[in-house]
Amino acid sequence: MSEELRHRVRELLAEWDFVPRADCWAGPADPEFSRELGRRGLLAVNWPTEVGGGGGSYTDRLAVTEELLRAGAPVSGHWIGERQIGPALIAHGTPELQQEFCPRLARAEITFALGMSEPDAGSDLASVRTFAARTADGDWLVNGRKIWTSGAHRASHLYLLARTGREEDRHEGITEFLLDMDSPGITVHPILDFAGEHHFNEVVLEDVRVPAGRVLGRVGEGWRQVVGQLSYERGGPERFLSMYPLLAAVVRAGLPDDQARRELRELMGRLTALRALARSNAEEMDAGRGPVYQAAVSKYLGNRFELDVVEWARPMMARADAAVRELFRQCVVAAPASGIRGGAAQILLSIIAKGERR
Ligand SMILES: Cc1cc2nc3c(=O)[nH]c(=O)nc-3n(C[C@H](O)[C@H](O)[C@H](O)COP(=O)(O)OP(=O)(O)OC[C@H]3O[C@@H](n4cnc5c(N)ncnc54)[C@H](O)[C@@H]3O)c2cc1C
Repeated sequence: MSEELRHRVRELLAEWDFVPRADCWAGPADPEFSRELGRRGLLAVNWPTEVGGGGGSYTDRLAVTEELLRAGAPVSGHWIGERQIGPALIAHGTPELQQEFCPRLARAEITFALGMSEPDAGSDLASVRTFAARTADGDWLVNGRKIWTSGAHRASHLYLLARTGREEDRHEGITEFLLDMDSPGITVHPILDFAGEHHFNEVVLEDVRVPAGRVLGRVGEGWRQVVGQLSYERGGPERFLSMYPLLAAVVRAGLPDDQARRELRELMGRLTALRALARSNAEEMDAGRGPVYQAAVSKYLGNRFELDVVEWARPMMARADAAVRELFRQCVVAAPASGIRGGAAQILLSIIAKGERR
């Protein structure tokens, strides 16, 4: 099935009018492209058919995502929801929540932003302070601030990690919620990145009322649930293919000299190994496991690979045309973030080191 899926993605890419981008899964969105993927059954291929998915496997999804990232396709509109919110709902959501959200995510009709990080809780997510208090009628009232929330300004929904227990309990009193972005009390403030582009936001939550049924999973179990969810976020090919459109464009333009070709052989060897790791992550998820340690390894090595692709391309840019130089620019802007977003390098190394001791 994977080969057939690859073929179908390539067919759509050949028909679609887009300019390939590096770091496309974090770049500007093309909601119509995302919806067309949904119409052609190329989203949520690994979800059960009962919730609008394709009934396939994570290995099938890997085939689809590799093709999209390789091409630098405009996928950011559906990426977070399809990558991790749907699977988190399938793992922990009530049947009602699954029916409410999953089919619409599989059709790319709704868009999620991730409300995890806070001014004092990035690497150390267990110190989140955004607080959800239970009201007398069983709903929740949320107050707090989220930061670096990618795409919150164009999202229809927010995944929220909030404290529902005492702060001393750290890992115990955290709960996951799903919010409508148009709920009263939510304000989105743009934060521009160092290139002056608007991807990030600060999201302020003031007395935001969240219905009781919008808890994802069990109250107080958010920490254990989110650790599994981070494997979806860290273990995929976006951690080593973000810069691939640049690599491919440099080769297609015939820019490498003998030295760059020698270095390219090494890069291709590493890419093959990273693809094998991503496949192994997908197989683990197909077997129902959350490959926390392995996903940390692939994200750490993938980020190193991405940085090396940029440095490999740098000396050739003087001879490159404007289109290749634009891809290079996108990579240079994305490079510092690649080792931070989704878990900074030191955190991944810490997970890896602890895993080795087990
Ligand atoms: C492009 C991009 C997109 C993002 N999108 C989102 C998003 O959509 N939603 C969201 O919630 N967050 C998002 N983030 C936030 C991101 O996940 C956090 O920035 C990241 O987890 C680091 O947290 P921090 O910025 O608070 O840094 P800190 O946690 O303050 O860390 C700063 C440095 O100290 C190191 N450090 C901290 N603690 C330790 C420790 N115990 N041991 C060793 N080293 C340590 C870190 O590794 C890091 O290098 C995004 C970030 C980027 C760059």
